[in-house]
Amino acid sequence: MQSAATGVAGRGVWQGLGVLLVETFAAGPLQCNCTVLACPDTKDAIVIDPGGETERIAEIVAHYHLTVRSIIHTHGHIDHIYCTHDVKRAHGGEICLHRDDVFLYDGFHQQCAIFGLARRGVSPIDRFVAHGDQIALGKLAIEVIHTPGHTPGSICFEVTDGARTILFAGDTLFRRSVGRTDLPGGDSGALRRSIRERLFTRNPGALVVPGHGPSTTLAEEARGNPYVHL
Ligand SMILES: [Zn+2]
Ligand SMILES: [Zn+2]
Repeated sequence: MQSAATGVAGRGVWQGLGVLLVETFAAGPLQCNCTVLACPDTKDAIVIDPGGETERIAEIVAHYHLTVRSIIHTHGHIDHIYCTHDVKRAHGGEICLHRDDVFLYDGFHQQCAIFGLARRGVSPIDRFVAHGDQIALGKLAIEVIHTPGHTPGSICFEVTDGARTILFAGDTLFRRSVGRTDLPGGDSGALRRSIRERLFTRNPGALVVPGHGPSTTLAEEARGNPYVHL
């Protein structure tokens, strides 16, 4: 059922998706898709890519009485990490990043300057995650898939609740597009290899929530994404 896939920007669209609580919304100056993901049994939550909307995150956390265990990042670009410090200060949770994107995280203030964004605080990374790692989410677990290309430390997160699989793809894979590779550390060959070998080999029915824009499925992109087959 892909109808839920169309409403990434709408409050409440994702509620009741399988046994997971999932809410995705565009956040921050570059409209990165931020997600709050929770186990409804234990109320443990994970925040993915808090590029903004800290008040909305707080509202969701309060509304469902959630405990934020981790703040996880698909990569270290400013639009995905801009409000990480604020979320950490408000809710706690381990800040997770792939080691190969530390140079971007450390360059937080340079990235702010490049994009004309006001400086914010930066909290240290608590945990480096790598390919194949599991991040606990109550009775479920998030699997880390290393997909270098958009940045060296780009990772995707997959969660399955038995009924369905959701893949948070960051800026690796978009609906009918892929992430740019002309920024520092970008590699177009690596990006295509990551998508073909580490994403298209997975459950084709997986719902893909990209870092920006509307969602899709792996099967749809394997069929119709013009950039992967170049
Ligand atoms: Zn990016
Ligand atoms: Zn982005």
